[in-house]
Amino acid sequence: MTALIDRPTLPSPASVLVCRNCLAEYPLGPQHACLECWGPLEIGYDPAALARVTTADVEAGPHSLWRYAGLLPVGQDPATRVDSGTGMTPLIRADRLAEELGFTAPVWVKDDSANPTHSFKDRVVSVAITAARELGFTRIACASTGNLANSVAAHAARIGMPSIVFVPADLEPAKITQTAIYGGTLVGIEGSYDDVNRLCSELGETDEFEDTGFVNVNVRPYYAEGSKTLGYEVAEQLGWRLPEQYVAPMASGSMLTKIHKAFKELTGAGLVAETPWTVFGAQSAGCSPIATAFSAGVDDVVPVRPTGIAKSLNIGNPADGPYALDAVRTTGGAMASVDDDEIREGIRLLARTTGVFAETAGGVTVAVLKKLVEQGAIDTTKETVVYNTGDGLKTVDAVSDGARPTAVIKPTLKGMREAGLL
Ligand SMILES: *Cc1c(COP(=O)(O)O)cnc(C)c1O
Ligand SMILES: [Zn+2]
Repeated sequence: MTALIDRPTLPSPASVLVCRNCLAEYPLGPQHACLECWGPLEIGYDPAALARVTTADVEAGPHSLWRYAGLLPVGQDPATRVDSGTGMTPLIRADRLAEELGFTAPVWVKDDSANPTHSFKDRVVSVAITAARELGFTRIACASTGNLANSVAAHAARIGMPSIVFVPADLEPAKITQTAIYGGTLVGIEGSYDDVNRLCSELGETDEFEDTGFVNVNVRPYYAEGSKTLGYEVAEQLGWRLPEQYVAPMASGSMLTKIHKAFKELTGAGLVAETPWTVFGAQSAGCSPIATAFSAGVDDVVPVRPTGIAKSLNIGNPADGPYALDAVRTTGGAMASVDDDEIREGIRLLARTTGVFAETAGGVTVAVLKKLVEQGAIDTTKETVVYNTGDGLKTVDAVSDGARPTAVIKPTLKGMREAGLL
């Protein structure tokens, strides 16, 4: 493997790469696996550097995720940032959803469909492509279930960096179009996401890809840090405090764990008061290896062959599964999975109560929230944040059959009367 490539890193509060499994430490750089145990590496910070960040510094920053640069491993110098305006998405108080589900405490929807390419992936890509450029890579690549492809191609186009994006060939048409339109190289693979990912790991070892940053392979530790901003933003938008519960969708499980990490860092840095929070994880029944391990009470996440309409979450062999289980278990939370009909109903429920049209992943999260309430597994007296991670226009086909005009009529009053609308 291309371990310990000598690529200098710029000064930042990040100090080290740490193995999440055996805690071995490595210098910062484009490395993602531990040489001792093959566990995943994550960015470690100098706690004193994080503690120097103040809420006033953040509030004086740009209206994008780069306002949190002091808590990120790259982009300390604004000149190195790839800033697409990602972040600072709406935190919507969803009173009608809360009422319908029987919550007596506020429910908030963090609506990341408002990002530039309409999913939360713009956060991880903003950080990953900034890292790739700081580390001296000249081409950017990824393995994607769809949304990452959209975002990598768009960010590469913005800065004029060549991109090569690998996706399963059977993706939703909107996600193919929304990647190809930006003009990079797009490769459809006859296989699942897990096949795509394996190919990318192999390519990363070749000389031809030496100058390529794979956002979710060799620069994955940096990529993953972008998800923390979903936690920072919610805390800031609540007036610098933490919610009591959050519900997040899981593909690899990374995003859920990084929101948890963000809350720990905010507390450690003294940016919010230390109040407890509980983590809940959502998967689709067509691909629920993490939720299945949770229900079985085991640590082993057994890989599956994904099926079902929530394609953006279809990772059958989730790299962060064990860490997602740990975040949920240590905070006393729960996980659940929902089938395709429940996902469609989740999309409709959010749309008709909140005015937010979510992609299938958001349908998974809302449907799981509903299921957790029915199971009594989530506390309806506690303030809860629900993460909507993508835009319904990306997966229109999932619900278009049940979303037709009430009537089609002649442009006359008679037409209205005949349709029973007058
Ligand atoms: C990628 C993705 C996620 C979560 O991904 P993780 O691999 O668990 O970090 C959630 N929602 C959408 C829409 C996504 O595209
Ligand atoms: Zn290790």
